[in-house]
Amino acid sequence: MKTIRLHPGKERSLLRRHPWVFASSIAKGGADSGETVRVEAADGQFLAWAAFSPASQIRLRVWSFDEAQHIDAAFFSERLRTAIGRRHTLGIGLTACRLVHGESDGLPGCILDRYADIVVLQAGSAGIERWKSALVGALRTLMPEVRIYERSDAALREREGLPQATGWLHGAGDTQVDILENSLRLQVHVATGHKTGFYLDQRDARVRFAGLVRSQGLRRVLNCFSYTGGFTLAALTGGAQQVVSVDSSAPALALAAQHVALNGFDAARATFVDADVNATLRRLRDEGAQFDAIVLDPPKFASSPQQVERAARAYKDINRLAFHLLPPGGWLFTFSCSGGVGADLFQKIVAGAALDAGADAQIVARTGAGLDHPLSLHFPEGEYLKGLLLRKN
Ligand code: SAH
Repeated sequence: MKTIRLHPGKERSLLRRHPWVFASSIAKGGADSGETVRVEAADGQFLAWAAFSPASQIRLRVWSFDEAQHIDAAFFSERLRTAIGRRHTLGIGLTACRLVHGESDGLPGCILDRYADIVVLQAGSAGIERWKSALVGALRTLMPEVRIYERSDAALREREGLPQATGWLHGAGDTQVDILENSLRLQVHVATGHKTGFYLDQRDARVRFAGLVRSQGLRRVLNCFSYTGGFTLAALTGGAQQVVSVDSSAPALALAAQHVALNGFDAARATFVDADVNATLRRLRDEGAQFDAIVLDPPKFASSPQQVERAARAYKDINRLAFHLLPPGGWLFTFSCSGGVGADLFQKIVAGAALDAGADAQIVARTGAGLDHPLSLHFPEGEYLKGLLLRKN
């Protein structure tokens, strides 16, 4: 077993159970990609077992802080069983659910999303790449009924020095499945959809939105960055009369339109705009359009700390434009999924946007990802999604 020795003082974050060690903290030692190493403080004290990633700035990701723990196939099987068990005890239906949420479930870099009989694996770290077949074996034992599809094509693979990898790991056949979310039928295309196919993390926000539209009797809804129409269906469920969905992906909008039909809603209530959101918001403002509620759920604007400033401007722009399109009493459900933009900063950006639009608003609720995306107390980076539900004064 290879040993990695840290610089003096660099053991502190590990002692606080944070699962990452950056390259600059390492004094001595190296290993192969994904290899398990023993991590020691400068004085030789044992700190953790971790996976080594030679290409990544995040050079080590911790498997365990317990010196007696063996990192073997049984370890991964146990972590997987625990993660799935947690969803069971929370009463989350497992047919459209995140089964493993990376660091927060003790499996750094590992995402497992289940859609009906397909589980999608995203291996985002050298360690998970190395133990992939052990994980697949464990999953097959725990869930013999599922097929397993790999979507390791996210940009972060590059940072880990790993090639892209997609395709069946177990089973074969159609990569398109039907799921039920909040009693709505949705199609997920695991081979071609975004991320692992769908944005499971917004499930709770969508239910909340449907309830809001219903309780407030909201009629005109604008859903920006609609993807396959998650919030569009929520608005229709809540009784909205006119829902406009904007996205720059034609296939996503086509699927959104299919979803409207699949769930038996009148097609006349839904309009789809294949265009840039920013340009569309400007056009709508110039036309004097008004909506009772607007959803802004953009893609990640900042994927590194260097991009935060530019991202802040982009968030501010769309939120400012949205405020112009709301009458007094109108609702804005606005999100950021950029890890680098914290909840405080996001709120400041939105406050600035309101000010620039000459508007004022109240925060009625704050939202985050659902219960199947738990957050480790020691890993604040896991909190990437934040939402503000605002009512314009
Ligand atoms: N709200 C969605 C998820 C949004 S993901 C849901 O509930 O499922 C972000 C979406 O923004 C993607 O569908 C992507 O195609 C779209 N997108 C990214 N940049 C865009 C832009 N500039 N204008 C319009 N849509 C954009």
